[in-house]
Amino acid sequence: MSEYITRLDERTVERIAAGEVVERPASVVKELVENSLDADASRIDVAVTGNGTDHIEVADDGRGMSAADVRAAVQQHTTSKIGDIDDLTDGVGTLGFRGEALYTIGAVARMTVASRPRSGDGAGTELRMVGGEIESVEPTGRPPGTTVTVEDLFFNTPARRKYLKTDATEFGHVNRVVTRYALANPSVAVSLSHDGNRVFATTGQGDLREAMLAVYGRDVAESMISVEYEGAAAAVEGYVSDPETTRSAREYVSTYVNDRYVRDGDLRGAIVSAYGTQLAADRYPFAALFVEVPPERVDVNVHPRKMEVRFDEEDAVYDAVESAVEDALLDHGLVRTRAPRG
Ligand code: ADP
Ligand code: MG
Repeated sequence: MSEYITRLDERTVERIAAGEVVERPASVVKELVENSLDADASRIDVAVTGNGTDHIEVADDGRGMSAADVRAAVQQHTTSKIGDIDDLTDGVGTLGFRGEALYTIGAVARMTVASRPRSGDGAGTELRMVGGEIESVEPTGRPPGTTVTVEDLFFNTPARRKYLKTDATEFGHVNRVVTRYALANPSVAVSLSHDGNRVFATTGQGDLREAMLAVYGRDVAESMISVEYEGAAAAVEGYVSDPETTRSAREYVSTYVNDRYVRDGDLRGAIVSAYGTQLAADRYPFAALFVEVPPERVDVNVHPRKMEVRFDEEDAVYDAVESAVEDALLDHGLVRTRAPRG
């Protein structure tokens, strides 16, 4: 072995790897909410305290886990969602498939996984993990479903902790993550609370407009214009706000491709350009747009966090999105060449 180059011990390697998956409290929330959706939950309640490092809780009424499943779930590279690597090539139906989220979160926090299977007569189990070690596994009484509690996040990775921003910024990230999933899953009742106060709660009634009302409030919801478009390259549906209802931040434009949230500047650009001169400079509408393209014409695995996509026929897809929004605005008598008011 070289004098200068030494092998990192396993614990250090794990913590470095953990930092890639769990960048900030919002990453924990994202992984846990994805697991709840994958578990076919019909309600998901997210509660966060402060900047999220003290306390994050995600509770669902999903499929749940047996005692053996709970033990297996927190091990590295364990997943119930993929058989072998071949499954990776054609659109995996589930959201996360790396089998490392619970393990990784458990490595950088004090984590409790309490679960009871929905089917059968399986009892409840509560597993406690601290810094990657299982501390206890005990039976517990609880309704079917799963509750994951994460406390003292990054207690053993002080560098991560230092890099976090203010409570408001970190909670802002959490809010955006939960909003994104709430809008994409109107048939799931999703609630978010911060420091004990309810931020929003969707009804789970299966209607996107209803979810937007819950998340963004009445004024925004009432300004929403429905978009429905069938093009050769893409089908587009969802809602955009009228040109008067805008914000200076881009974050209220949510775009999804084949039901997966994506952050794509060009997609957002296509929406914005449909408004033409009606939108003042540096203003963005509210939007929740779902773009549907044939799965074989889009690569969703471009980015490890899977928030980016690559289309085979980029231009045609962006044109379809622009036309979709333009048509919707025109239908509402909002002609794009009209000069902005005021
Ligand atoms: P992945 O989601 O990639 O499979 P995770 O570490 O996030 O990996 O979860 C590991 C396994 O634990 C999942 O495959 C699933 O079987 C189980 N699991 C995790 N969260 C839940 C949940 N909320 N409800 C039911 N099962 C869960
Ligand atoms: Mg997962």
